[in-house]
This record gives sequence, structure tokens and C-alpha cells, in this order.
Amino acid sequence: MRNWIKKRLQNYKVPLSTVDFSKAEKLTSQRKVAIIGGGIAGIASASALAEKGFDVHLFEKASFLGGKVGSWEFESNGETLRTEHGFHAFFRQYFNLLEFLKQIGAHKHLIPIDDYVLLFENNQKQGFKDVETTPGLNVLDLKKYGVFNWLTLISPFSMPFLGLLQFDFNTTFKKFDEENFAQFAKRTFMPKKMRLVFNSFARAFFAEPENMSMAELIKGFHFYFLSNDKGLIYDVLDSDFQTSFIDYCITFMEEKGVTIHLNQGLEKIIYKDSKFDLMGEEYDYCIMATDVNATKHIIGNSIGLESFDTLNRQAAGLNNSGHYAVIRLWTDKFEADQSLPFFIFTDRLKCLDSVTLYHKMEKESTAWSEKNKGGIFELHSYAVPKGMDKDTCRKELINEMYHYFPELKGVKIVHEYYQFRNDFSAFHTGLYKERPTVKTEVPELFYAGDWVKMDNCAMLMEGAYVSGVLAANHILQNEGVQEKELVQVPTKGLLA
Ligand SMILES: Cc1cc2nc3c(=O)[nH]c(=O)nc-3n(C[C@H](O)[C@H](O)[C@H](O)COP(=O)(O)OP(=O)(O)OC[C@H]3O[C@@H](n4cnc5c(N)ncnc54)[C@H](O)[C@@H]3O)c2cc1C
Repeated sequence: MRNWIKKRLQNYKVPLSTVDFSKAEKLTSQRKVAIIGGGIAGIASASALAEKGFDVHLFEKASFLGGKVGSWEFESNGETLRTEHGFHAFFRQYFNLLEFLKQIGAHKHLIPIDDYVLLFENNQKQGFKDVETTPGLNVLDLKKYGVFNWLTLISPFSMPFLGLLQFDFNTTFKKFDEENFAQFAKRTFMPKKMRLVFNSFARAFFAEPENMSMAELIKGFHFYFLSNDKGLIYDVLDSDFQTSFIDYCITFMEEKGVTIHLNQGLEKIIYKDSKFDLMGEEYDYCIMATDVNATKHIIGNSIGLESFDTLNRQAAGLNNSGHYAVIRLWTDKFEADQSLPFFIFTDRLKCLDSVTLYHKMEKESTAWSEKNKGGIFELHSYAVPKGMDKDTCRKELINEMYHYFPELKGVKIVHEYYQFRNDFSAFHTGLYKERPTVKTEVPELFYAGDWVKMDNCAMLMEGAYVSGVLAANHILQNEGVQEKELVQVPTKGLLA
């Protein structure tokens, strides 16, 4: 059975873009490219083009690169500390991003998480590290954790679950993009524990069950669980993002000749005679690798793009997912349960979705913790309930931490960094049809980012990286230069 599944799913890895060796290896003329946004997508585009001899200028609004994987310092009570947007999991089917980490030398910083754990309201916990890794069989294996029972398998209401194993771009989005996860769960009489597992999965895409497109969720389930044998265990970086990731990107890009412009937030672009004018400089191509809010703003403000109807309509329709919150706490005490892994999903009372124990995971945090005999905890609410304000959300997050970790009650919070943001891309119902693609209506303008529609299944960090390389590949193709190789998981499910 395992062999049949592996064969059916094309050994779990198929080409996405291949190199045409009859083309030039490098650019022989002068071509200048502006890349707006220095997150993973912008870094991917800049690296791929600079390697091929393009004159690349990377514009970043913040004072540091990385975007949502950026890292920065702040002062608190006389100490200089570092924080980030939040904990990130590097799944092992992030084939292209992981290959890039190898290329730039950052791969050595990845360490495995012990287990994939869900913490329940009644203080029970469920680890998933021993789940079968063969797609399809892994779903059946979830039965041993009580995620479903035999009744679920034979119930006629459960037939739509088959849709999970039938992922196909052509049919899944037509059938499921208008349905949200809450509706799907109700329609299928989804068992409680299965609902909890799916809920935590939906929130990893920053959406409440009532908003999350079931088609995007099926795509995510396919990408993360049903298209490959990498399992649920993933890796994390052993140091802060600047030290273990972004510094390597900067060294690599600078060696290849990329000019990095920090603190350069662009408000608009001017398009004239097939060229772009950005702050008085002329460029042959432009890649917008900004988040959804900024992309919408910049396109809406630009000059010379007004006649491109689809471009303007799609940009105007871009949406963020609503608010998410991340709070990092430096405390004078550890949690008592030493058996917990670095990262835990909760089943959420009101807003706490996950807790990361940084003092166990990251070298700098461990050093702080040893010196100060305290812990560093990060609490996430991926989708803040509608109407909950910033202060209430902060209080709730901390209260819920005490609920899941009662031993921390009375702990002293020595330092704190709180973010309440709304810059994550929406994967809500009905958005797929009008979601912009990497290639735009403007021949020299491309999009990159985790929000861009692609015909491969890569999502989140891998989606950002792949879209960035795909944007670069379009430019390489235009200039007759060899494209960068990319791979992907198969794009059709086991039963599709
Ligand atoms: C809390 C949290 C947890 C996450 N956890 C995971 C995880 O576990 N696994 C995973 O795979 N993914 C995770 N993600 C998602 C992941 O971080 C993103 O998918 C990915 O980093 C997006 O990269 P990007 O380059 O598309 O966008 P961004 O990182 O948003 O980059 C866009 C860049 O554009 C810049 N910019 C904006 N406006 C302008 C302007 N006007 N001019 C110039 N620059 C501008 C921004 O400053 C930013 O640097 C998480 C995200 C968050 C927020």
C-alpha cells in the first residue's frame, strides 16, 4: 500500500520549473530591476535575479529585512532585547526554501521540534509525533488519537471528507471556495476532536472558522499532510531570525551585487514607456513583494497604471485577514511541565491559539533565561475575535496562559513586547477567483508574496519564497536567460 501511494503521488516531489540549458546562463546586457518589499518573497526574487547578472535594487520600508521573519531590538527597563513577529515552523516539504537555506549556509541552524502538541481546555494534551507519515494512511491513523471513529467513516454525512483526498485546483476551488470551514464542519457533522484539529489548522492561516475558505483549507491540508511523507514534525531556527537567517540572506545578496535600500517605504510607482520610475531612478522591471495592504495602497496611488483594469480591480480587492496578536513575555519563572515541546497549539478559550517556550528553543533566549532564572513565552492569537480591542486581547492572552499553565499564576512579567497587527493575507471564502497571479497585466510588473495565486500548492513561507522565484523566472524568461529550478509536491490528491 505504501509503495502504491508513493508511486501514485509521484514520489512526493515533482518539477515546478526546470532549467533550459540551451539558454544563456547569465545576462549579457544591462537590466535594472526594482523589488519593493524585503520579506522572504522579495529576498527570493532579488537573490535569483542577482545570481544571473541583473542590477537589483531591493527597497524595504523597515530598518531591517525579513518582513514577517524580521527581527529587531528594543529597550526595556534598561535592557536591550530582541523580538520578532512570531514563532515560525519550517516544514520539511518546504523543498525550495530549505534548498535556499542550504545555498546561503543558514540550514545548519534548523533543529527539530520534539512533538506536534495540542493542549486542551481541560488540561489534557495530545501529541501527534507518532502519526503514520504515508499520505492517506496518516488520516486513518488519526483514529488512534480519537480524531474520528468508525462511525465517521461509514456515515453518509462524512462523504465530503473524501474531498480532502481529492485536491485538484480545477475542481476544489470551484466546489469549496464559497464554503467556510464552520459551514463544512456543520454539514458533515464533524466529530468534536476532528473539529479542534481542523480549527487549529485553519487558524494557522489566520482565519476564524467562519471566514476560512474550505478550498484553501483543503489545499493546505494537501500541502502539509496529504501530498508527502514528511510527517507533522518540523524544524525551527535555533537562534533569532536576524542571526540565523537574515544575516545569511544579506551576505549572499550583497556578494551577488544586490543594492539594499532600508527605511525606503514606497508610496507609488510611475510607469511610462514600459519602464518604472521609483524615486527618480529608472528600472526595466518591477517586482512588488509587499504585503496585501501595501500592494493595494501602492497600486492605487501609482501613475501610468490607471488603464490596466484587471490590475486595479484585483489590487483594490486585496484583503488582510483581520487582526492577529503576538505577545512575548520575559518572566521570573519557568513553566513546571518540562515535557512540553517548544511550541504548543491550544484549543483556545477566547483568543489564545499557541504558546512558544523560547527559553527552550533559541540560544539567545536560553542564555537570558539561565542568567535571569526566568522564562520567555510567546503567545499568539492568529485570528483575534471580531470586535475584541487591543487591550482586551492582551489581557485575555495572559489570562489564558494562566489557564493552560496554572503553575505560572503569580509570575512576574519582567519585560513585554506586544503586537496587534492586521497585515496578514486573507484566505477567506470567495477570494480565489480575483486573487492576483505572479504575472500581471503590465508586462514588466510582477507580484510576489504568500498571498499571490499560483498553480502550485506552496503556502506561507514556502509560498512566499516560490512566488518570489517565479517572478524572477518570468523576467529571466523574457531576457532569454536560464530560469531557476523549482520543485513542488504533486498538485493532485491521492483520490483526485
Ligand atoms: C505570527 C506569525 C506566525 C507565522 N508562522 C508561520 C509558520 O509557522 N510557518 C510558515 O511557513 N509561515 C508562518 N507565517 C507566515 C510567514 O511569515 C509569511 O507567509 C511570510 O513570511 C511572508 O513573506 P512575504 O515576503 O510574502 O511577506 P512579508 O514578510 O509581509 O514582506 C513584505 C515586506 O514588504 C515591506 N513593505 C511594506 N510596505 C512597503 C513599502 N511601501 N515599501 C517598501 N517595503 C514595504 C514590509 O515591511 C515587509 O518587509 C507566520 C506569520 C506570522 C505573522
